[in-house]
Amino acid sequence: MTAHTTHSARVSRALTSLRGLAVGDALGSQFFVPAHYSALQSGELPPGTWQWTDDTEMACSVLAVLVRHGRIDQDALALSFAEHHDFDRGYGPAVNRMLRLIRQEGADWRELAAGLFNGQGSWGNGAAMRVAPLGAWYAGDPVQASHQAEISAYTTHQHREAVAGAMAVAAAAALAADPAGPQDPPGLLGAVLDLVPRSAVQAGIRRARDMLDYADVATVAAVLGCGRRTSAHDTVPFALWSAARHLGNYEQAFWTTAKVGGDVDTTCAIVGGIVAARPGGEPPAAWTERTEALPDWAVMS
Ligand SMILES: [Mg+2]
Repeated sequence: MTAHTTHSARVSRALTSLRGLAVGDALGSQFFVPAHYSALQSGELPPGTWQWTDDTEMACSVLAVLVRHGRIDQDALALSFAEHHDFDRGYGPAVNRMLRLIRQEGADWRELAAGLFNGQGSWGNGAAMRVAPLGAWYAGDPVQASHQAEISAYTTHQHREAVAGAMAVAAAAALAADPAGPQDPPGLLGAVLDLVPRSAVQAGIRRARDMLDYADVATVAAVLGCGRRTSAHDTVPFALWSAARHLGNYEQAFWTTAKVGGDVDTTCAIVGGIVAARPGGEPPAAWTERTEALPDWAVMS
C-alpha cells in the first residue's frame, strides 16, 4: 500500500474534491437568483451564505458510502440518497419521487430506477454531478474510478448516457488527482476517452478534445451543450472541456463554466470537483467560507 492509497489519504482527497464540488454547486446556483445575475456576469460575488443543492447532497452520500464500505455498495448508496433527501435542494421530479418512495414506502431502488422514463432509465446528469469525489478517492486508478462510478450510477440513472457521463467525470477526477497523471488538457481528455463506452457522451468528449484550443467559450458551449437539457451528453463534454483547460486554477474554471449559463450549479459542481481534486486546485478560501458547511454526517463519516 503506497501513501496515496491509505484510507486517510483517500478520505482527505475525496473531501477536498467534495468541497470544490460544493462551492461550484453553491456559487453556481446563485446564477439562478435574478437579483444576482448581472453582478455575477461581471465577476462579482453575491452576498450571504451560498446554499448548495442536490449535487452536493448526493455527493455527500457517495463519499459516506466509500468511507464506510471502501467501494460503492449500491444498496447503501440508494438508502443514503433516500435518507438524506431534502425536497428543497432542487432535485429533478423523477428523482424526487423515487427517493420519497424508497424512504416512505420502502420501495426497491432497482425497480424504480429501471422503470424511469418508460423503462429506458434516466439519462439526466445526476449520476455525473455527484461523482467527482469518487474519482479523487481512486486517484491514479482511473479504471477502478470509472468502474465504481458505473456501479454508483445505476442506483438512480440507468440510461447508457447517464452511466457513461458518470464514468467520464470519475475518470477525469482520478486522473486530475494523480500528480503523475496527464499534464496537459488533450492528454487528460484522451485518457478519459479510453475509459468511456461508445455513447453520445463519448462523441461529445471527442469533440471537446478537438475544441481545446478554441478560445470562444460561448461557441464551445453552444456546440457541446452546457446542460440546458439536463442530460448527461448535454452536460459532461463541456464540463470536461472547461475542467481540462483550467486544471490548477479553480477561479478561472468556475467563471468560464458559469458565465455561459445552462445547468450552472451542475456544470460548476462537476468542474469544481475535478479541479479541486488536483493538488493546488482548491477554491479560494473566501469562497469556501461563504459556502454553506457540509453536513456533519458526510464529514464525520
Ligand atoms: Mg443542483
